[in-house]
Amino acid sequence: MSLHDRVALVTGAGRGIGRAIADRLADGGCRVVVADVDGASAEQAAAEIGVAYETETLGVGANVADATSVKQMVEAAVAAFGSVDILVNNAGITRDGLLLRMKEADWDQVLAVNLKGAFLCTQQAARLMAKGRWGRIVNIASIVGAMGNIGQANYVAAKAGLIGLTKTVAREYASRGITCNAVAPGFIDTAMTQALTEEIRAALLAQIPMQRLGSPEDVATTVAFLASEAAGYVTGQVVHVNGGMYM
Ligand code: NAP
Repeated sequence: MSLHDRVALVTGAGRGIGRAIADRLADGGCRVVVADVDGASAEQAAAEIGVAYETETLGVGANVADATSVKQMVEAAVAAFGSVDILVNNAGITRDGLLLRMKEADWDQVLAVNLKGAFLCTQQAARLMAKGRWGRIVNIASIVGAMGNIGQANYVAAKAGLIGLTKTVAREYASRGITCNAVAPGFIDTAMTQALTEEIRAALLAQIPMQRLGSPEDVATTVAFLASEAAGYVTGQVVHVNGGMYM
């Protein structure tokens, strides 16, 4: 599972699943660019990861929904480390509501961060990876992108779209040594799910054969495999990490 000396860029990595992915890739020997819309949390996470795993890191404030911001983020990565070999499109938000009551702005914002953000980052990074004829792109989708979910029309549409983007990027870049896969987490214990009521959490747990929420590390381990040398023949796939909730 060699990751040694690769340059990895993880979006939304100031906390939660993205932070665990950044930790895991650094632990595997990557130099890591920690990007987050909250620049202070990106810088703090980068500093902590650098110390913990004795590797080079860079914290960058970047909004994935903004093309200029994404361009500057990738330029900063190149200035620091020369390239981007591994891109993890993790940044994501929810703005839940039933379809009839969903505000247009909530639809637009969720699509902009979760789907357009991955498109913008992939476009920038794939150009660099193609030059080196090696690359790994991992998109963090969701179980609901496969199942649908009441109250999440915007989020589900974005995650299902991300799966479509994954398969297209996989086809367009396979001949250049670049793989593109999606990881679809089930319900993972982060700020995003801590916002759910006890009643909803209990109802979710009842649907999970493993009878626990996943941890950010459960997701990070799968991402690290897909980002590694060992996964070179795996592309265009959706890997579900959900304790058996969806099979
Ligand atoms: P989280 O704890 O809310 O972390 C998301 C991170 O993304 C935050 O640091 C957030 O910054 C950042 N972010 C938000 N908007 C951004 C933008 N425009 N540009 C750059 N960064 C941005 O969420 P999480 O649970 O770790 O989720 C990570 C990913 O996994 C998301 O794509 C999510 O959809 C997916 N996922 C999560 C679960 C789950 O159960 N938790 C399940 C399936 C899929 P701020 O702190 O400033 O908001």
